[in-house]
Amino acid sequence: MTNWIWALSFFLFGYIINMFYISVLYHRALTHKAIILGPKMMSWLGLTGGWFTGLDPKTWACMHRLHHMYSDTEKDPHSPSTFGVFGVWVGQYKSYLQIQQRLLKNDPEYTSLVSDIPFDVGITNRYNLSWLPYIVHGILAFTLSHFFQSQLIGVAYFMGIMSHPVQGWMVNALAHRFGHRNFETNDQSTNNTFVGLFVFGEGYQNNHHHFPKRAKFSVKWYEVDVGYGMSLVAEALGLLKINRFTTN
Ligand SMILES: [Zn+2]
Ligand SMILES: [Zn+2]
Repeated sequence: MTNWIWALSFFLFGYIINMFYISVLYHRALTHKAIILGPKMMSWLGLTGGWFTGLDPKTWACMHRLHHMYSDTEKDPHSPSTFGVFGVWVGQYKSYLQIQQRLLKNDPEYTSLVSDIPFDVGITNRYNLSWLPYIVHGILAFTLSHFFQSQLIGVAYFMGIMSHPVQGWMVNALAHRFGHRNFETNDQSTNNTFVGLFVFGEGYQNNHHHFPKRAKFSVKWYEVDVGYGMSLVAEALGLLKINRFTTN
């Protein structure tokens, strides 16, 4: 029983770190500027993002800006309308790799989309070592398993911190296909309550596509946005500043 509690705790520990980076820092701050980062926090994000999440922040921002520009058209990097609901899993990964290659080759069509981001594609990605963060977290997971004499605990930690393929698929596929719509937008975005809860507010894609510059993704009282809650806590700790002046 105790092992299960430790496993759940390490899963949540990894998951919360990952979601803080991806939902708060990559998405709401870096991509949409709904949250303002100071120079120190911005440098920290550029240096550590890839190591904590396994995904390069600049590539992620570029891919996500393309998603907003071309939502649910053929140019959308991960639309279920193009790839099918289950095909998004592989489609989003292939698009990510392709966008990263274009950035590394300094293709102006792509670099111009992220020219405001004050750091380069991460060092591991520049030198074909993008697998390295996964190895580092694998070693940490192995060490935890050894320390607690329980494989489950190491697996739980790894699944939490490296959960982005599942989160990404849920948001990109399910929250662009199943759920309620509060706004008429020019895409297939939906507000999926389950994805909204599990992926810390990211499942409210319809609200977010209607108000892309708002840090808070929920609109209705029953739409819970944990990511916005984390943003408020981080703001109280002085790590970032929520941009409350943008209204759309
Ligand atoms: Zn979307
Ligand atoms: Zn967005």
